[in-house]
Amino acid sequence: MDRPKSRLYPEIDFDRDGKQTGFLRLPHSVHRSAYGWIPIPIACFGNGAGPRVLLMAGNHGDEYEGQVALGKLIRELDPSEIGGRVIILPSANFPAAMAGTRTSPHDQGNLNRSFPGDADGGPTAQIAWYIETELLPRVDFVLDMHSGGSSLTYVPSVLMRRPDTPEALDKASRLMRAFGTPVGYFVDGGWGGTLSAAAARVGIMSMGTELAGGGQVTPSALRLAEGGVRRVLAGLGVLRKAPAAPDGPPTRLMQVSGPSYYCFAPEPGLFEPLVELGGEVGEGTPAGLIHAHDTPWREPATARFSRAGTVICKRVPGRVERGDCLFHLATDLQK
Ligand code: CA
Repeated sequence: MDRPKSRLYPEIDFDRDGKQTGFLRLPHSVHRSAYGWIPIPIACFGNGAGPRVLLMAGNHGDEYEGQVALGKLIRELDPSEIGGRVIILPSANFPAAMAGTRTSPHDQGNLNRSFPGDADGGPTAQIAWYIETELLPRVDFVLDMHSGGSSLTYVPSVLMRRPDTPEALDKASRLMRAFGTPVGYFVDGGWGGTLSAAAARVGIMSMGTELAGGGQVTPSALRLAEGGVRRVLAGLGVLRKAPAAPDGPPTRLMQVSGPSYYCFAPEPGLFEPLVELGGEVGEGTPAGLIHAHDTPWREPATARFSRAGTVICKRVPGRVERGDCLFHLATDLQK
């Protein structure tokens, strides 16, 4: 292949068995440090032949549940527990993770809109390029752990692109139920530039999560993240001993199919939500009021849902600009 080689240098050997931890060195020549590099933590667990999996979090730096859960997995997992290979990239956009922000402080890059990236681009584009050209081709499956971040909170969910065949849909549904979130939803298309688009290009299966969020870590979301990762590894045949089954009812299989599932602020102002996570709404149901605090004698604007569905995502901050996402819906999966 004649595409340009990534400049990132891994301190670990992905073909070696056993446990390795170290950094991906991203060259970063700045005033403070002429020959320095950004240290992106990475771990690799290998034990002979078997399925190969990449576990990622911190694609958005302000989504913490996956970063904490994968750090714990790095500390606790022993190579003898697995057959195959597990690569763990717990804070993929490391500069963003260190800043506690969605995007990178170096280049404002949103890693999950940056794929396939650029071998010669800024730090975020270089990370995307490394993941797409070096990590994804080494694995059969990637789990990318997101949450609502600073601006959104979710009914804990897993998500996948809708597979083409009934057999693939069955396999995907099994893995969703293995993770054990209340909701598992399939998406048609996407935002563009995402890790899931990269995985599709490379030809491997990918699964994402949306684990609560709101710029914090809750004990319940973290337990779900920790257990879910191990259950998916068992479901893929990597982890030899099956962990405990998830608590709660089986995952509700749903879909999110395009712009009508989203509700946006029609005006800038202060957001008064009129529905909560888990609520069932109809077409035209008022979603929220946007109060004009610059002219409080004016009536607030009403945001409405443009279709029926279940509220699985809600905005957290009270101040909004026109175009900010207030809610999104899911509906039961139509096979
Ligand atoms: Ca995210």
